[in-house]
Amino acid sequence: MTDFTLADLGWSAVFQSQLDLEDIETARPARVAAIQRDRAVVLMPEGPETVTFPGHLSAGDVAVGDWVLLEPDTARIARLLDRATEIARKAAGEAARRQLIAANVDTLGIVTAASAEFSAPRIERYLVIAANAGGQPLVILTKADLADPSPYLDALRDVSRDCPVVTVDARSPEAAKEVAAWTGRGRTLALVGSSGVGKTTLTNALTGRAEATASVREDDQRGRHTTTFRALRPILGGGWIVDTPGMREVGLVEAGDGIGEVFADIEALAEGCRFRDCSHTGEPGCAVAAAIETGTLDPARLDRWRRLVAEDARASETVAEARARDKRFGKVVRRIVAERKRRDGPGR
Ligand code: ZN
Repeated sequence: MTDFTLADLGWSAVFQSQLDLEDIETARPARVAAIQRDRAVVLMPEGPETVTFPGHLSAGDVAVGDWVLLEPDTARIARLLDRATEIARKAAGEAARRQLIAANVDTLGIVTAASAEFSAPRIERYLVIAANAGGQPLVILTKADLADPSPYLDALRDVSRDCPVVTVDARSPEAAKEVAAWTGRGRTLALVGSSGVGKTTLTNALTGRAEATASVREDDQRGRHTTTFRALRPILGGGWIVDTPGMREVGLVEAGDGIGEVFADIEALAEGCRFRDCSHTGEPGCAVAAAIETGTLDPARLDRWRRLVAEDARASETVAEARARDKRFGKVVRRIVAERKRRDGPGR
């Protein structure tokens, strides 16, 4: 791996402004490139380093793409910096948790094929995820060489008038040029989309290497070993791509802001409803129903909005409930510990 400056790695004023005077003298900023159970691989101008978490942080609190400050003389994280953007999902399985997938992603590339795979509602859902994360969406239409892309481009314009769209042949070396305006020095890209649309092919075109060679052999104090797959990989022309298994399973969770942004037209209409809690299902004085009546709002769009709101509510409710439960449990534990301390006296 060649040498990178902090700016190459994506360091910017957003992060610099979080440092106090002492930090500026002693702290070493580093960007998280991979996370293992009890340690993380970070990238710094001095090269990659394996670091451990301090007591107040665990692997679940840190995401690929995060900026951290390392302690001056040890290979340990001192502090996690606030994120510019954050991609999360509801953890798979029973655990109702909000799980971080990636941090500080500038552009969310929504990869879709000019084929039967194409689904405007699915792209709209990814637009919500991008808006909620705080990143810029970019639709990347693949396999556009195999079909006439114009019907797909029309459908995309119906979903979003201002989201940029590029068409690429993911297998071609030219693919990197098509997305170059969204990559480059210090910029971070992540790709989402169904399997089979060409995400892996595009990732390989951007990084210039095949998946199988992505794990590299390295030396460290414990001897020579194969490090785990790095999830933050450099793009040939500059910039970074986040490539984690979690990106395949991004979902809506606490995504109200993102829904509000992508469906700003519906939310603006709802402001005009007579009742503040109008459900737009036949209440008198409903401005949303009136817009459908006059043809200014597509009923299919309202339907898609409803589905996303319901999906987000389901995912967010269980997460919020579990958080409240954990909080109550934490209070009980703290009380028991405090009582025990009082009973047993100091020094225990
Ligand atoms: Zn209404």
